[in-house]
Amino acid sequence: MSCDHFIGCAGGYGESGIVIFGAPFDGTASYRPGARFGPGAVRNESYSIETYSPYQNRDLGDMKIFDSGDLELCLGNAGRALCQIEEFAVKIFSDDKFPAMIGGEHLVSLGAVRAAFKKYPELCIIHFDAHADMRDDYMGEKLSHATVMRRCHELLGDRKIFQFGIRSGERGEFEFSKKHQFINKFDFAGLKRSMEKIGNSPVYFTLDLDVLDPADLPGTGTPEAGGAGFGELLSAVFEATKLNLVGFDMVELSPPCDLGGRSVCLACKLLREVLLAVKK
Ligand code: MN
Ligand code: MN
Repeated sequence: MSCDHFIGCAGGYGESGIVIFGAPFDGTASYRPGARFGPGAVRNESYSIETYSPYQNRDLGDMKIFDSGDLELCLGNAGRALCQIEEFAVKIFSDDKFPAMIGGEHLVSLGAVRAAFKKYPELCIIHFDAHADMRDDYMGEKLSHATVMRRCHELLGDRKIFQFGIRSGERGEFEFSKKHQFINKFDFAGLKRSMEKIGNSPVYFTLDLDVLDPADLPGTGTPEAGGAGFGELLSAVFEATKLNLVGFDMVELSPPCDLGGRSVCLACKLLREVLLAVKK
């Protein structure tokens, strides 16, 4: 068993359209930490799944995907960790490749979004999450997984972020999102309508795994009851990947919270389906 790359993703950098990398950072986790162990767990556990997808009749073995391993991030300094992520993502974008980042807590998305925005000033974000992540600060801190979408808002401006599955946050976060972005509470029912609005604009897709119900995915730092099941999420992912995606991340898997290991199995399968669906 080889664990230096996600299963079926042994392509070289130059020949690959998609570049996987891990961002093992959880320095601002507001409840249970552990997401720093997410990328390694996903890579290891990926050898329990097939490279072939019966959902899409496609196989990772037929694609060229490079897994760059994990970034060595400064765990005690969120600002510096974000700069490291941004720098790496800028390189991927400048080589016209598609970054697929494995978190880490959700703050890591800001580094990749900054890089995407440099290349695509008209960038939109599709955000699947239980949490709005729209606080202006979390206990005085501007950089937190609870503020990450607010920081993205400052970068992208109004009406560029499309949120789905949201069922937790302060009243003010919901009001802010309703006024300045597009917030879809609880499920993915509004996805098709949002996709019409987005059209062919470049899209960064950020998937916080806690959008799933904790019954399906208990291994996350801030579980929220009442979420989607795997099938429902997969259908939404297949819809969202029809957009003009330029980057993707999957965040907030916390292996120490994942008793029995079912969350990491799910995350591997989900990542396989995304990699096969984006067709880069
Ligand atoms: Mn989040
Ligand atoms: Mn969340």
